[in-house]
Amino acid sequence: MNKIVELTWKDVLSRINFIKKKYDISSKTKIYGVPKNGMVLAGFFGCKNVPTPEDADIVIDDILDSGSTKKKYKKLYPKKKFITLFNKDKNTKWVYFPFEKQTEDNEDTIVRLLQIIGEDPNREGLKKTPKRYLDLFAEFLNPTKFDMTTFNAEKTDEMIVQLDVPFYSFCEHHLLPFFGKGYIAYIPDKKIVGLSKLARTLEVFSRKLQNQERITNQVADYLQSKLDAKGVAVVLKARHLCMEMRGIKAADATTITSKLLGYFRTDTRTRAEFLNLIGNHRN
Ligand SMILES: [Zn+2]
Repeated sequence: MNKIVELTWKDVLSRINFIKKKYDISSKTKIYGVPKNGMVLAGFFGCKNVPTPEDADIVIDDILDSGSTKKKYKKLYPKKKFITLFNKDKNTKWVYFPFEKQTEDNEDTIVRLLQIIGEDPNREGLKKTPKRYLDLFAEFLNPTKFDMTTFNAEKTDEMIVQLDVPFYSFCEHHLLPFFGKGYIAYIPDKKIVGLSKLARTLEVFSRKLQNQERITNQVADYLQSKLDAKGVAVVLKARHLCMEMRGIKAADATTITSKLLGYFRTDTRTRAEFLNLIGNHRN
């Protein structure tokens, strides 16, 4: 699912000729192009281009992707023939037409989003918003990589705890931030790491489109796999803007998730000690 296909004009024109023959399309055929690539492509058929699907004999679209556009049009206009120029196979991530430039096209998509939510993308404050928005995600979703260098634990066998580690993430359901504090602990067996690496681990798993439970589990499992610890505990407390700003408007609601492995799970005293540390710290 990661092949990127860049079509040339030759590819496009030979495909158009093939389709014209196959469907017997003449200069009198009325065609409608689905915005916006379908519209561009419809212009190359040398037919009568009509402004609405109702007036058309044939509806043209660029790519058959998920099939949702075709489904939508077939439902609205069941009698119209719907033709896509190219079909995307399951190995293909993206198809670029010769009239598209990748970065410009991505910004256009955000311009379109602004229009969809009823905004004027040309007003002063929004002019550079599409680029800023894409830059923001490009930066946020690419945190600096780090090496999980471990050291010999020597005689350390006490619980190592990092409290109040801030984290920021985007909820995958609404693309809104959720953020809070992490409480991370482990009991070393033979390996230890620098404390900053616990925070970095949380950062790397947070800076994706996520849900809080998954971050909690991923951080705990990752630390366990790297440290072969006697126990790992991860607790996250977070505020979710998608809950606070909309829907049930549960302002000030904190969501707490936890994952306890090894001794933290099996030994009640260890668990109590950790939860006590968190609790005391919070009050
Ligand atoms: Zn959400």
